[in-house]
Amino acid sequence: MEMDKKLRHYNDIRRVVMVVDDEPINQEMLGFILKKDYEVVLASNGEEALEKIRSRKRTLSMILLDLNMPVMDGYRLLEILREDEELKYIPVIVLTAEDGAEVRCLELGAVDFIKKPYNVPSVILARVRRAIELSEDNRIIQDAEQDELTGLYNRVFFFEYASQMDPFQEKGETDAIVINIDHFHLVNELYGRIYGDQVLQAIADGIREFMDENRGIACRCDGDMFYIYCPHQKEPAAILDVIRRHLEKLPDDSRIRLRMGVYAKAAPDELMERRFERAKLACSTVRGKYIEPVACYDVSMSETEVLSERLVNDLKRGLDEKQFKVWFQPKYAIQGEQPQLSSAEALIRWDHPEFGMISPSVFIPLFENNGLVQKLDHYVWAEAGRWIASWKSKYGFTVPVSVNISRVDMYDPRLKEKILTILEENHLTPEDYLLEITESAYSDDLEQLIHIVEELRVLGFMIEMDDFGAGYSTLNMLTVLPVDVLKLDMQFVKNATSDRKNYRLVELMKDIARFLEVPIVAEGVETKEQCEILQKIGFDLVQGYYFSPPLPPEEFEKLIKKEVDRKGAEIC
Ligand code: C2E
Ligand code: CA
Ligand code: CA
Repeated sequence: MEMDKKLRHYNDIRRVVMVVDDEPINQEMLGFILKKDYEVVLASNGEEALEKIRSRKRTLSMILLDLNMPVMDGYRLLEILREDEELKYIPVIVLTAEDGAEVRCLELGAVDFIKKPYNVPSVILARVRRAIELSEDNRIIQDAEQDELTGLYNRVFFFEYASQMDPFQEKGETDAIVINIDHFHLVNELYGRIYGDQVLQAIADGIREFMDENRGIACRCDGDMFYIYCPHQKEPAAILDVIRRHLEKLPDDSRIRLRMGVYAKAAPDELMERRFERAKLACSTVRGKYIEPVACYDVSMSETEVLSERLVNDLKRGLDEKQFKVWFQPKYAIQGEQPQLSSAEALIRWDHPEFGMISPSVFIPLFENNGLVQKLDHYVWAEAGRWIASWKSKYGFTVPVSVNISRVDMYDPRLKEKILTILEENHLTPEDYLLEITESAYSDDLEQLIHIVEELRVLGFMIEMDDFGAGYSTLNMLTVLPVDVLKLDMQFVKNATSDRKNYRLVELMKDIARFLEVPIVAEGVETKEQCEILQKIGFDLVQGYYFSPPLPPEEFEKLIKKEVDRKGAEIC
């Protein structure tokens, strides 16, 4: 429909046609024939023509080109046009008196010939018109096939052509490859959409360069997802190297992290969509893995997928049957003479009747995508509230417990009400109850988040920024973020003892906390050496296996008792 409309408009626009000929008499004759129907631009040699073509680009509908000219002849100009991504679409009709030039000119991309001398004007006009119509039809079809931003195919045409390509592959061995950008929405948010577009274009350029050498076709679909269908690659990671070379031309390219999934050597009868589903699944397994961001599909990935589905289905029953447990991991204050139990973090566990204890890093991400995590979080908050209250009344003092707030919880309009109800039911105050919000949640919708967090702080809650350093906060952002405690991402602690640079990084994090005037917690502390380093740098609190793993409530209670005894001994 759209295409018909465009075609019918041939007569509505006055198109621009260029005549390139060194003979003034030829220029004059052709100009005379064409000017009734077209805007005519003249050039006397290839060089002059090229300059004018470049300044007009897509507004030029056709070039009539003489072959023998001084400075730059018609063959050279054809070569240059054919190699130029933008100019290669302008149709060229060659003007020639010689026989035998046709084949070479066709190879160089000419669409037609007009014989000199020009004695039948109506034939010339008809051929020019036909060539322009053909090229415009082609262009319209290409526009429909292409993703406007990158020039790669769009999804629909990609699948169409990929299926057609199969019979032509040598030995039939092909790969379905998916490339995705980690946290692309953050790139857009932090650096702006224009920069985001440049990133997508650079990736497309890299893919094109790869395909020039290796054949294959590619498309962009779903924003930051690229599909490549190509002959089997022994080292698919090489594609990322080519792309990275294009990304390096952009400022701040080190922030752009790509990941890649490969479904290699598919059986010829396998559906194209299914092959890419598998490549996508492989790609999702390397999310956030910066060192080896390439995965090839294997059957176990489908098994993981099946398990994931099972867990999603089992959630409701798990909650009803109280299969979920809340464990507590202590945090110790380390700046005094002796480490002192200061607070704890509530961490969920799933005691599944068939699979046994499942780690939250397996099931939480599954429930984050479909909103089910809110149910779990609410369960943990309520359980934590109950335990804090029972210890508070039993021992006469509070060991504050922090609970994890998922990013979806942050957008729940009833968040405040839900937490306050738990406090009320257990006769607790906000000082008994800390809230951990992961740093990356802050980059979703900064303004709204600040607003919600401020409301919670007004009520008296302390907000701990979890996984600090792993997200994308800039120093500027940090100064406006409402937080009361920074909780350093575990990775920093892991690396702190490896070399001077990593040690310095941890010091820097402490400096940021000092600048923001908030205490800083380290988690994932496993060794004495790590603990001593953190103490020296000035960390206030430490959580990790060095002191204790997360414990069932009855076990954790023993630590409280110990603390009570220690305090008692101090008083005596
Ligand atoms: P997180 O909030 O960063 O929690 C810290 C994780 O580090 C916990 O893993 C804890 O067991 C582990 N950990 C503690 N000390 C050490 C150590 O010395 N070395 C190492 N290698 N790990 C240590 P866990 O319990 O498996 O939880 C994983 C993640 O699952 C949590 O990371 C959190 O993001 C999420 N999670 C856990 N419970 C909940 C919950 O109730 N709600 C929500 N929304 N997320 C939760
Ligand atoms: Ca946490
Ligand atoms: Ca954490």
